[in-house]
Amino acid sequence: MTQDTLSRVLGQPAKVTDFVSHPTGIMDIDWRKEYTREGHRVTLAGSSIVMHCHHYNINLQKMLEDTLGERGVDLMIRAAESASRNGFESLLRHYPQIRTAKSRMELAETMYQICGLGVLHFREAELQSAVVESLSSHHVTGWLAKHGRRATPGCHFTRGWIAGVLSVLFQRKYLVSEKACKLVDSPTCCFIAVEECNGG
Ligand SMILES: [Zn+2]
Repeated sequence: MTQDTLSRVLGQPAKVTDFVSHPTGIMDIDWRKEYTREGHRVTLAGSSIVMHCHHYNINLQKMLEDTLGERGVDLMIRAAESASRNGFESLLRHYPQIRTAKSRMELAETMYQICGLGVLHFREAELQSAVVESLSSHHVTGWLAKHGRRATPGCHFTRGWIAGVLSVLFQRKYLVSEKACKLVDSPTCCFIAVEECNGG
């Protein structure tokens, strides 16, 4: 995510009228004209975009689970935690006017969404614990498309991502577990975070 993308989201939210409507309801974009690259930055209709691939992410997850089991799961969680912590800290340095925990959680939710990772809501978040719900997820969509339903929750990336954000919000370490998952049979994914020194 780039700063101009965030500025656009925070300061001037894109409106439907920013785009040309099509009778089918699908936005009519001239891809050859609107989809461009400026150095390392890829833009679509003037907005910077982030691209990622569910084939790659899901194959990486399956390989780690199949070959390393719980150690592979832990590796995914720790990597996502580190990335989200570093990214969120950097973002907050750019926007020091965002100070309250509530505003920072809303910023985290926005960051998750505009990075194409899905829809995430911090339902409750306090120093000792938090409840976070995901209504839609890049990883869920990708896993279901490639492998169908699972017997156990599988949103390990999101567990780590939440832990990283909470560590920035409260300056503590958190263990995040997934209590319900769309990959099993739940209508949403539900995550519980517990401060690590409490034993999780
Ligand atoms: Zn899930």
